Amino acid sequence: MIRFNVPPFTGHEMDYIKQAVENQKICGDGEFTAKCNTWLEEKTGSRKALLTTSCTHATELAAILADIRPGDEVIMPSYTFVSTADAFVLRGATAVFTDIRPDTMNIDENLIEAAITEKTKAIVPVHYAGVSCEMDKIMEIAKKYNLKVIEDAAQGIMSEYKGKALGTFGEFGCFSFHETKNFSMGEGGALLIRDEENIENAEIVREKGTNRAKFFRGQIDKYTWVDKGSSYLPSELNAAYLYAQLEMADEITKDRMDTWNHYYEGLKGLKDEGRIELPFVPEHCRHNAHMFYLKARDLEERTKLIAFLKENDILSVFHYVPLHSAPAGLKFGRFNGEDRFTTKESERLLRLPLYYGLKEEQTEYIIGKVKEFYKG
Ligand SMILES: *Cc1c(COP(=O)(O)O)cnc(C)c1O
Repeated sequence: MIRFNVPPFTGHEMDYIKQAVENQKICGDGEFTAKCNTWLEEKTGSRKALLTTSCTHATELAAILADIRPGDEVIMPSYTFVSTADAFVLRGATAVFTDIRPDTMNIDENLIEAAITEKTKAIVPVHYAGVSCEMDKIMEIAKKYNLKVIEDAAQGIMSEYKGKALGTFGEFGCFSFHETKNFSMGEGGALLIRDEENIENAEIVREKGTNRAKFFRGQIDKYTWVDKGSSYLPSELNAAYLYAQLEMADEITKDRMDTWNHYYEGLKGLKDEGRIELPFVPEHCRHNAHMFYLKARDLEERTKLIAFLKENDILSVFHYVPLHSAPAGLKFGRFNGEDRFTTKESERLLRLPLYYGLKEEQTEYIIGKVKEFYKG
């Protein structure tokens, strides 16, 4: 059976975890967390990166820092993971869903302005499959209407828009290191902070509302409760696991990219015949091979293809069920404008196995089976 995902493992994780244990520091913000934060800052060019317990939590942290309150509205695509909406709904905001572009499956930047009301506080672009949203346009709208931008870059590590790392455009950027992402720590994530003025507050909210980070840096001689907060820092054991992968980030990315390109070349014939559609990466975007998907004609064809691949020992999966039609979406959100593509495109999309270490023969076998399905 070819699994859909296998969590990344480079071989150095156990050594680093052992080191953390031997350091007798397994709670948060030790040596490995610091190393991960520094790596993220250097790699992305962000002023500040803070490891968190998940991308969901990084987004919650961002929503607190952006002062999202009951009655506020936050614009986001409906085609996304629940966390994108949850983080804001938890603060009492309404999720205002807009339609996506069918080519990238990202929020349609040309529909954002029409969704803005007096209550709008933020825009949350989601960089689907590690392919950037149109950030120039989004930042221009945010500036014009004085809105915050919080990037859901859960899938976007190592990706760029016009040469700049995803997660560094908005006030806040959120990464995920869940086991299904390019680099993992089991459960975990990171918050990127663009502006100096938000750094201290972020450290405080992340550490239960205390100024403990300042204390550790020797800037104050005792720490205390200074604001509202929660606990968003991961254990050193998880950070140690992640650091082993960040060190090999280029190799992991290259391996994934090879698989991605192999799929693309192998399935291009079917695309040219108009049988399927393949991912689109705009010229000015550099992606990270987070995901390889194809689009079948419709839901029925996709269901048959998933079953056919399964009969042939290949696990493929569909992706998001649009949030606006989910029970909580009906309660906590509304769709602005017309759903031209969100539902229709989400029903056609099928993700093929893609993980660090997937073998070339396996990719070749999968390509062969997809072709066989369409020839049959
Ligand atoms: C994975 C993912 C998340 C959630 O990440 P966690 O680290 O599991 O909280 C949020 N948004 C998107 C788009 C994702 O793909």
